[in-house]
Amino acid sequence: MRRFGPTVFAEMSALALRTGAVNLGQGFPDADGPASLLEDAVAAIRSGHNQYPPGVGVPALLEAVAEHQERFHGLRLDPGSQVLVTAGATEAIAASVLALCEPGDEVVVLEPAYDSYPAVIALAGAVQRSVPLLPGPDGFTLDRSRLEAAFGDRTRLVLLNTPHNPTGTVLGAEDLAAVAALAVRHDAVVVSDEVYEHLVFDGGTHTPVAALPGMAERTLTISSAGKTFSVTGWKVGWVTGPAPLVAAVRTVKQFLTYVNAGPFQPAVAAALGLPDEFYAGLAADLQRRRDLLLEGLRSAGFAVAAPAGTYFVVADPRPLGFADGTDLCRRLPELAGVVGVPVAAFCTPGGVAAQAVEPLVRFTFCKSDAVLHEACDRLQALRR
Ligand code: PMP
Ligand code: GLN
Repeated sequence: MRRFGPTVFAEMSALALRTGAVNLGQGFPDADGPASLLEDAVAAIRSGHNQYPPGVGVPALLEAVAEHQERFHGLRLDPGSQVLVTAGATEAIAASVLALCEPGDEVVVLEPAYDSYPAVIALAGAVQRSVPLLPGPDGFTLDRSRLEAAFGDRTRLVLLNTPHNPTGTVLGAEDLAAVAALAVRHDAVVVSDEVYEHLVFDGGTHTPVAALPGMAERTLTISSAGKTFSVTGWKVGWVTGPAPLVAAVRTVKQFLTYVNAGPFQPAVAAALGLPDEFYAGLAADLQRRRDLLLEGLRSAGFAVAAPAGTYFVVADPRPLGFADGTDLCRRLPELAGVVGVPVAAFCTPGGVAAQAVEPLVRFTFCKSDAVLHEACDRLQALRR
């Protein structure tokens, strides 16, 4: 693990703290989630839900996750055997990869990739096969010929992420079908990280790969409460899928954390049942803030395409004369009093994706209007 230093998010949040810059780096909301959720957690603590919960998660949450998957995605699950609660999506991803990969097995990953993916692939002794998402004027596109070439005899898993961090891409039907066909052909399991499932904009939709024909039996779907309910510090996640795969993940999970988040689990269970207006309002509100940041970035001189989902905008600073996003992120607090995250930090150094995204910077818009306005005002300094 020596090649994995402190995460880019920790590094950039520390830089923001040190310099007093506006932190649009690490993706965490600056407002609390629904009041009922917070009250339910307080009530759970006060009423004694403070010891180890069951290893798979509290029954109310298992049922709520199963209901959620059916309500939003038409996926029918047995809460008793097809749902496992985890310490955030991060543990669900780690336990899935550790459970299903032997040393030398290959994992197909879209790159740029969330930073925990290469780390857990390394922990499993598995080998990452990256498929670039390539930036263009209208956003990122999956390189389908490279997708096909990434699969081979040793492919064990596809670690998918849609809506995608950091690019904001929501994979469309053709991309999903291509991934599904290759997974079937190579008898691979798909581990699908869908933590941004409810953060999709402009009337778009998120389709879980598990909903495609023939995919439910070979897909583990992962999500968490952090993004949907703006409680990233609670670390309540879950993984759903075929019972034998979920059982394998559970075996690993019980030796990673055993259990977590006892009093938060019943609160999240209740929140998953919030009415449709809550979910629609969440996306609409974030879309408005996305547009606010897009406008600010454009007027500051960045080239940006609107992301279809997530918390993140990827900005190209080349019109402003900056060609290296990593260097720009280190200097941005001093140049403009703002922090972003270099997209190259999500890529294998020297790889196709790393080269393609070298200039690019990710900014988050999951912040209050006041913070976003302040950041946009400050970024105007780059023009001068
Ligand atoms: N996957 C992706 C794509 C993420 O962006 C994040 C966190 N921001 C996670 C997983 C981790 O989620 P959690 O905090 O629930 O562990
Ligand atoms: N997922 C968040 C992001 O991408 C950060 C999570 C973390 O700090 N590990 O910004």
